[in-house]
Amino acid sequence: MLTVVSILTTTALFSLAMLLVLGSLLRSPVAGVREWFFANLAMVVSLPLLALRTAIPDFISIVVANVVMSLAGAFYYAGCARFLGRPVPWVRMLAGVALIGIAMIVWRYVDANLPMRVVASTTFNTIVCTAIGVILLRRRPRDRSPYNFWFAALMAFLFAGTQMVRGLYFMTLAPDESLAMLNSVWNISLLTVGAVVMPTLTMIAVMMVHDAMLAKVEHALNHDHLTGALTRKRFESITRDLLAAAQPARPLVLLLIDLDHFKRINDTHGHAGGDEVLRAFVQMAGDFVRPGDALGRLGGEEFGLLLPATTAADAAAMAESLRAQAEGQVVSGEFGSCRYSISIGIATAHWEDSPDRFNARADRALYAAKNSGRNRVASEETLPKLETEMEMEMELPAKAGRNSAQA
Ligand code: GH3
Ligand code: MG
Ligand code: MG
Repeated sequence: MLTVVSILTTTALFSLAMLLVLGSLLRSPVAGVREWFFANLAMVVSLPLLALRTAIPDFISIVVANVVMSLAGAFYYAGCARFLGRPVPWVRMLAGVALIGIAMIVWRYVDANLPMRVVASTTFNTIVCTAIGVILLRRRPRDRSPYNFWFAALMAFLFAGTQMVRGLYFMTLAPDESLAMLNSVWNISLLTVGAVVMPTLTMIAVMMVHDAMLAKVEHALNHDHLTGALTRKRFESITRDLLAAAQPARPLVLLLIDLDHFKRINDTHGHAGGDEVLRAFVQMAGDFVRPGDALGRLGGEEFGLLLPATTAADAAAMAESLRAQAEGQVVSGEFGSCRYSISIGIATAHWEDSPDRFNARADRALYAAKNSGRNRVASEETLPKLETEMEMEMELPAKAGRNSAQA
């Protein structure tokens, strides 16, 4: 019995430590932390009650302790469900907890039978832990590293397995109330696994919370907060990666998109109206973006759209369609309503292109689109060829000033 008590006490202390760790995360905006906190609280409360068997009334050390212990499992599952944005089946879970309470009362006061009480609680734990493993594997966010989810699911399945074996073992025992049977090598070994699993599951939950917070920060770093398009820094890094991977059979195309006469829109509808137009454009362009494409905001009202594995003809058709869609869009809001148009420059990556050179070629085409009257699409391939780097460099400073010169 002493061994069982030391295992329960060790787990209780572990859970207390995890409770304090989770306490530091209670104010984080990540869903599920509160439920995981209560799961550990329930462990911290129930384990000493179980360990105090014979020293305190049976009703508390058997009925209350087992009900609170079941709540720990239910709360852990609830934490996972909320963390993954899934509904929490509270009614089903609380019905299961109530059944545990009834089983404890019946097999203690009506028909005293310690093995059956163990079977009842291990059955509950097996079901809950299997459900935890399943929800973590099935609903894990696909854009994050799967490591934490696999680790937690493995632990949950391990616990479910040991609980099932423990239940099966106790099923073979005759009805008895002798506590000596708890000290069998089997029971001690299975309890020891359980002692490691529950605090470990909480530790992984903490890792998942940190990863979720990191995901939020990464998202904020990589996305422009006004429009939701990629930031220039992220867009440039994607450009570098895609350029390195581009092959003649899978051409990479860059569209540089600039809203026409945007200063006038700001002047007529105010800065808030201009902001609304930028948001509406990105939302509309988002419908054009295929998986693998990248849309970034490169500066004020200038955007880049990278189209990997796209032929020049397909890119030109997409650009024309985007231009026509923008021309037909009416943006309305508190400022009133307005229309806008865009000019697009297209360049297909050459094998020798650096990111700057690739960008400069698309910029040259955008310049041509602006020069020929705006609300146009121009392709760099159709422009007169520049023979030397020097010619391209000489053109760039002129283009840099085009917006203010021609507004
Ligand atoms: P063009 O057709 O030649 O491109 O003319 P333009 O007026 O669009 O170009 P210009 O570069 O002269 O002006 C861009 C304007 O975009 C100037 C700036 O105030 C405005 N702008 C830049 N960022 C924002 C923003 O975040 N919100 C709003 N509302 N306006 C912005
Ligand atoms: Mg503009
Ligand atoms: Mg501009």
